[in-house]
Amino acid sequence: MNQPATSATDIITGQQGPDLMSDNEATLLAGLRWLHDTEQPEGAILQHHGVVLEGVGNRRFGFIPSGRADRAIVTVDVAHLTWEVKTFRITNPLRRTELTELTAQLATLSAEVVGTWNGHPAPTGSLALARPAHPTLLAAVARYHAGCPTHSAKTVLCDCDWYTTGNALIVAPTVHEYKGAGR
Ligand SMILES: [Zn+2]
Repeated sequence: MNQPATSATDIITGQQGPDLMSDNEATLLAGLRWLHDTEQPEGAILQHHGVVLEGVGNRRFGFIPSGRADRAIVTVDVAHLTWEVKTFRITNPLRRTELTELTAQLATLSAEVVGTWNGHPAPTGSLALARPAHPTLLAAVARYHAGCPTHSAKTVLCDCDWYTTGNALIVAPTVHEYKGAGR
């Protein structure tokens, strides 16, 4: 259905087989451990978009502590878009089956997906997780939403070092720890 005449999508699809998905396993595992199991220190502050980790195969993954319906969310994005010059149509969107495959892969990492949105033909997709983010990570996001405690009028946009100082306390995901640690 609506398969584009151009071969660009087909070429890219050919590069994104099962091997590629397993290559992203360390990234997914690191992100999930960070989201669910990493304790953040008191006073840590994190903006609500969470973190983005670069994957392989032109993908990047986002790990959002609290997104739609207050769920923890994993996002997958095409890292570098290409498009047709005349129409601006994106020629390398997510694959048709990508969110389904990602749901299955997350299940192998003990992460249950309870809903997805976007995905092909978009270059971005989101997957909502059953398990909530770690309470200390949610607390870090809540501190962000509460805004600067010193200069109340400036809220989250305060130009003092409130956010920088709190954000420096955040324990980041460590992808290298999980390389080769998957199944
Ligand atoms: Zn301030």
